[in-house]
Amino acid sequence: MKKPLVSCPQDFAPSVISCLKRLERKGIKSLYLDAGSPPVTPPDETMNKTEKSLEERLNEIATIVSACTACPLHAGRTRTVFGSGNPRTKVMFIGEGPGRDEDLQGEPFVGRSGQLLTKILQAISLDRSDVYITNMVKCRPPQNRDPLEEEVRRCERYLVEQIDLIKPRVICALGRIAAQWLLGNKEPLAKLRASENFYRGTRVLVTYHPAALLRNPELKRDAWEDFKKLKSLMEDDGR
Ligand code: URA
Repeated sequence: MKKPLVSCPQDFAPSVISCLKRLERKGIKSLYLDAGSPPVTPPDETMNKTEKSLEERLNEIATIVSACTACPLHAGRTRTVFGSGNPRTKVMFIGEGPGRDEDLQGEPFVGRSGQLLTKILQAISLDRSDVYITNMVKCRPPQNRDPLEEEVRRCERYLVEQIDLIKPRVICALGRIAAQWLLGNKEPLAKLRASENFYRGTRVLVTYHPAALLRNPELKRDAWEDFKKLKSLMEDDGR
């Protein structure tokens, strides 16, 4: 017989089960053991960060992400979705998390939302290969639900590394989840869209998630204003 991963004294098990049932009745469906997630920096002590190119460093983190089991989302993924595009860009787009198509292809924003994003980029004379696109979480949430705060917390170290390495001139937050995390608050999207925002000194432009534009095409007019602003922010700096 296979040995259990953790053994539990016989008299202890009923109280654990009843505690779990109580949590379930309160609507808590996932529990996280605080074992911590794998370090982003590979444990190779001899590695000298400065000798690696930006692309090599990102590839290393993508490899670490591909083996990540820090939250339960890993169990449902086909592929991790790390990020794609040009890391030597002025603008980085951050969405929520991969959907079905992204999970299958391992690329962010390749489904219907992604096709719309590609079109909007073209309308401001940008190609996907000019920008870098990623998500808050790198594994698909079930039924395309919003990522839970704990899942975002478990995954955020990868995003922080991506931002620190890419050093974009502007970050474009696609939707509420990315905007609220980057700005560290719970303000409604409308308020965040209207204000001048920064993430550790980097300008953050907040706009609607493309999925919201697909659901509510009347929002496209406002989104168009956001993207024109994004373009002018990119052109402002002379980098
Ligand atoms: N929605 C997201 O937030 N990200 C994707 O990659 C696809 C859809």
